[in-house]
Amino acid sequence: MTCAITTQYTQITSVQTLCSTVIFIQVNFGGFIPLSTVDWRGRSVCTVFLRGCPVSCNYCQNAAILSGTDLCAIDDVIGMILGSRLLVSGVIFSGGEPTMQKDALAALAKASKEMGLSVGVQTNGIYPETLEILIRDRLVDRVALDIKARWARYNNLLGGNYVKGVRRSLALCKDAKESGTLQEFEVVITLFRGYEDEVPYIAADARDVDIVLQQGVTGEIRPLSEEELKTIADGLERAVRIRTREGGELLYESDRSRRASRKR
Ligand code: SF4
Repeated sequence: MTCAITTQYTQITSVQTLCSTVIFIQVNFGGFIPLSTVDWRGRSVCTVFLRGCPVSCNYCQNAAILSGTDLCAIDDVIGMILGSRLLVSGVIFSGGEPTMQKDALAALAKASKEMGLSVGVQTNGIYPETLEILIRDRLVDRVALDIKARWARYNNLLGGNYVKGVRRSLALCKDAKESGTLQEFEVVITLFRGYEDEVPYIAADARDVDIVLQQGVTGEIRPLSEEELKTIADGLERAVRIRTREGGELLYESDRSRRASRKR
């Protein structure tokens, strides 16, 4: 399959003069959104989707790009970002699982930085070595890490040996946030009816980290409502963000969480 890039981007000629990134790397490309106001709170960004993910969540919103090959020269993808540069202040790398393509992601993040853009990564955390490089080289400003279940259920649920990697990613990002090398870090819990009791376990591991309770949506199960998610958040005694299809995203702080934070 050939890379599905519009000529609008391939005709940009200033990629090589603006970016010192080595451009021989290929990207298994999944897609591009030139302008998004929902992928990074408070920012206009462009979003690059990298193809491929070894996990097969049945609720995946991007199932069409979990497998297959659509190879692009990295300078073509850099050209897309460059085409959005005047409209955005950042780039989100999503997927699929963007950290699966370590060299390509690092090169794209570096090129984005050289354009003066902030870089965000949405990840399932199973490739901590990629996050380590991005953090070490100051190539990432924001990480949104999906944690899908308590550790005891993780490997079984995802069908692979993933716990160690995700725990390592969590620790890396927490440390980086605390030390100031990572500006923004949040743990995203996509929650489905019947799995509400997972939340306290995950929240205990994500103490002092921003948490997003995201409404899980599949065809089979009635999604939890905003009110139900607030009730779950009440049990955590801390502020969380709640994200639903119908209400968007809000910061929720229950009376109990306010009392708990006053005691600290
Ligand atoms: S880990 Fe993310 S990209 Fe991979 S299948 Fe699950 S939801 Fe989709």
